[in-house]
Amino acid sequence: MTGAARTEIPIRPMRPVDADTAPFWDLVDQGVLAFQRCAACRRLRFYPQARCPHCGSPEHSWDPVSGAGRVRTWSVQYNAGDPWFREHLPYVIAVVELEDDSRLRMLANIVGCDPATVHFDQRVTVVFEPVDEDRRMYAFKPT
Ligand SMILES: [Zn+2]
Repeated sequence: MTGAARTEIPIRPMRPVDADTAPFWDLVDQGVLAFQRCAACRRLRFYPQARCPHCGSPEHSWDPVSGAGRVRTWSVQYNAGDPWFREHLPYVIAVVELEDDSRLRMLANIVGCDPATVHFDQRVTVVFEPVDEDRRMYAFKPT
């Protein structure tokens, strides 16, 4: 260390991408929340995976959903080890149940409000926050 002030801008830690999840993240980058719908039993599923967890079929389509949901549980974070998250304290991590199918639940940040106002059953809708020039990350905000 030279003692000079650090001017690095923290980079947001991002999701792992593999063959199963790449289509999901490509759609998120386009501002679309979509889930795999099984071609055999027609059920939506999340997280993205190669085979339907209900019937085992590998055939599916990617179906956009409304992005409307309700907060089922949440936590307000006041500490973070990662520099990017540390700059965004306090922030909310929540489990959001999608109105498109109550079996669909996503872990996500709640944004656009005072973290102290987040509550059980709160109506939220998906938003897409820019990460860099090409990528976005989903979050939810109160409606
Ligand atoms: Zn199925």
